[in-house]
Amino acid sequence: MSTNIKIIKKVLNGYVGFANLPKQWHRKSIRRGFSLNIMAIGESGLGKATLINTLFNRDIITSQHDSDEFDEGEEEDVSVKIKSTQAEIEEDGVKLKVSVITAPGFGESINNVEAWKPIVDEINSRFDSYLEAESRINRTAVVDNRVHAFLYFIEPTGHSLRALDIALMKQVHEKVNLIPVIAKSDTLTDEEILEFKHRILADISHQGIKIFKPTDFEYDEEESANTRSIIDSFPFAVVGSTNEVQTPDGRLVRGRKYPWGVIEVDNENHNDFVKLRQLLVRNFLEELKEHTANVLYENYRTEKLKRMGIEQDNTVFREFDPAAKQEEERALHEAKLAKMEAEMKSVFQQKVSEKEKKLQRSEADLFARHKEMKDKLTKQIKLLEEKKAQLEKQKLLPQDPPAQPAPQKSRKGFLR
Ligand code: GDP
Repeated sequence: MSTNIKIIKKVLNGYVGFANLPKQWHRKSIRRGFSLNIMAIGESGLGKATLINTLFNRDIITSQHDSDEFDEGEEEDVSVKIKSTQAEIEEDGVKLKVSVITAPGFGESINNVEAWKPIVDEINSRFDSYLEAESRINRTAVVDNRVHAFLYFIEPTGHSLRALDIALMKQVHEKVNLIPVIAKSDTLTDEEILEFKHRILADISHQGIKIFKPTDFEYDEEESANTRSIIDSFPFAVVGSTNEVQTPDGRLVRGRKYPWGVIEVDNENHNDFVKLRQLLVRNFLEELKEHTANVLYENYRTEKLKRMGIEQDNTVFREFDPAAKQEEERALHEAKLAKMEAEMKSVFQQKVSEKEKKLQRSEADLFARHKEMKDKLTKQIKLLEEKKAQLEKQKLLPQDPPAQPAPQKSRKGFLR
């Protein structure tokens, strides 16, 4: 089938005004505010709370390390819990809603074989809620609780990834923007960090694990160099601290003080914290969200609908085909209605059968009472008949003369 589409390019000879669109978009975004949902996963004590609080420069979450719930002494079977904390922060009039999801208890059991499960369940359930909200007829306020960035904290062992790290990353890498970080990197030397980074990247590629890679917009040289330097620093070796310390040259900086010197959090020569912040907040927040919505969520949704028996048109142009999308949504809606109808039918049938049983019971009751009364009446009739017969018998017997009253004596002893 051939289509005759003519594209007419015209030179504008008057100012239309769409050059103003970025400004409009900017104003709207500022008014609406921004949001970011981060999942921070790793064993307790690896500096997750400290790093999140360092990233946003305020106490957003408290350490799970200090809580009594997860004492290092109790190493038996610790269950993994999911905890979510929200905070709204403002900087120069721009609002950012941050949601931090952690999994206290992860990696703390003797047997950590399925430690990833509650985490994967949480990611899926957030996708499901979005899918459900999207399929509602009224879709005006769909809240996006999907995980936009997944920070995985690797213990600074200096060796290579552990089985637990690989298992977790393999389970989540197709559902989230995975960003592995080497925790507490100030405990390793520069050479150890380099060596460790190489090993981690080799393991990740060997295992076929996908990590988030920002798009390199090559048309902007400065931006492009910056993006490449971010990618080259993977996996980020980070240091967190919200405390200010004094450097030997008298500056007050966020960092950690040691007898041999100060590790500065915000110094790119000391660690990769600045690069992580650029990736998460400064440069790629919208890309993280877009990739979540357009790739990760779309894949999840397609898989889910397929599993529900709805084949989709899986071409690259699918999202540009509104009719297919509408059809998909209609099918999803109908499937939901059918399920509701089936549920209602089953409830109705159950109610009817309960009522029938009740009626049968009261019918049996009534019958028993009727029989009891009938028996009683029959007995009474029999008794009355017996009495009647007795009376009739008495009537037939010869009657004795009526008895004379005994003569009474008078006071004087004479008979009266
Ligand atoms: P979480 O359990 O993973 O949330 O860990 P926390 O943030 O509570 O940190 C546990 C301990 O490690 C605290 O004593 C922190 O001061 C310390 N810590 C946090 N980040 C770093 C870091 O980058 N380097 C070092 N050396 N210690 C850190």
